[in-house]
Amino acid sequence: MVPVAKPRQPSKRRPAIQLQVKTVLNAIQRFPGFVFRDIRFQCHRDGQPRCIEITVQPHPAIAAKCSHCRKPAPGYDRLEPRAWLFVPLWGIVTRFLYAARRVTCPEHGVVVEHVPWSEGKRPVTIAMMCFLSRWARRLSWRETARAFGTSWECVYRSVEWFVQWGLAHRKLQGVASIGVDEIHWGKSKRTDNFLTVIYQIDGHCRRLLWVGKRRTQATLRRGLKALGPEVVGGLRFVCTDMWRPYLNVLAAKASQALHVLDRFHITSHLNQAVDEVRRAESGRLRSAGLAMAERLKNMRWTLLRRSSRVRGRARGQLGRLLNSPLATARAWMLKDLFEHFWTYKSVTGAGNFLGFWTWRALRSRLEPMKKVARMLRTHEGLLMNWFTAKGEISSGAVEGLNNKIRVVTRRSYGFRTYQAMEIALYHTLGRLPEPEEFTHGFC
Ligand SMILES: [Zn+2]
Repeated sequence: MVPVAKPRQPSKRRPAIQLQVKTVLNAIQRFPGFVFRDIRFQCHRDGQPRCIEITVQPHPAIAAKCSHCRKPAPGYDRLEPRAWLFVPLWGIVTRFLYAARRVTCPEHGVVVEHVPWSEGKRPVTIAMMCFLSRWARRLSWRETARAFGTSWECVYRSVEWFVQWGLAHRKLQGVASIGVDEIHWGKSKRTDNFLTVIYQIDGHCRRLLWVGKRRTQATLRRGLKALGPEVVGGLRFVCTDMWRPYLNVLAAKASQALHVLDRFHITSHLNQAVDEVRRAESGRLRSAGLAMAERLKNMRWTLLRRSSRVRGRARGQLGRLLNSPLATARAWMLKDLFEHFWTYKSVTGAGNFLGFWTWRALRSRLEPMKKVARMLRTHEGLLMNWFTAKGEISSGAVEGLNNKIRVVTRRSYGFRTYQAMEIALYHTLGRLPEPEEFTHGFC
């Protein structure tokens, strides 16, 4: 006999699961040994929601654990109830209330029990710290504080904890290439306003590994020490600018790695030199009362661009400039000529070209260009390493990460201290792992 499917009747029974706040809580934050007891909704006099209070109780059948060794221990007494800020439910401030027990641990004596949602004396649950931290990557810290009804300080402390957790749990195996660079931040040019950054620039992972104040040999030594001898010993490529303190330290500490001068840095030295020539010439023309001065002044950004990227009206302007006998035109042509260097397939070819280019630059009577030529000659060996490393390291990685750092440091007018900015940098660019048991279930 073939069973006949009955048409489905709408059920007259109540649905099996009545959604309770407890159900939601147990689904997203379950703590063995603890139960959510009652959940109270507190209102203002006018009926506006004030807060949600969730009372937590110890599970009667499960012993408390020592907060030092996490081993079960007999109870001693109970402390006064404390409140912890939890992730807001429906946008309403939500707190856990719990009276922690003290236990007598055979090893550690009378200590407070392990409270799994809490971290030290912080008045904020770990889940809330994670929640705020994740939002603090999308919004500014101030906006995050405002959106979730808390303070800037609370967001800062949360991100700080989140970053420290991430740094303690991140994996540094397989770091083959790093980029080391200096970044200026803030307004003044004091040494304290420079940062040394170490990036991982492998094809499979680009991230900020370390950041420290100043740009001295001591700074970089501190950074390499923080990464540990295993990471430093395993490096295959190191990418930097021609900054002497870095060159010295890397030659001493990571001599096995191939040291490469980054294309992006060379290009920016050339651009700076062209700009210096332009500024000086513009000043000379202005004092002579020539109209060309004003035009040169407006060409700054055109001259910094790669020639293939100059289009439209700027292209016409550039063409006219190059037909003029100005020093800026000659400087620009030298810069543009150097682009050819990177296209060589053989090291010999590139070496010959470099010889030719520096010879021309040194005869150009343009002091800034001569300076670059001398610098390139001094570091010829490292410059040639670029061809050996070609295809192994991504050339745009350092530049891209630098740009991202600038976005964060500019936002930094809201960061009150250097420490806060450092934390924000690791937070946004460090690709740090997250404590998953506290982040799942939340956006
Ligand atoms: Zn113990």
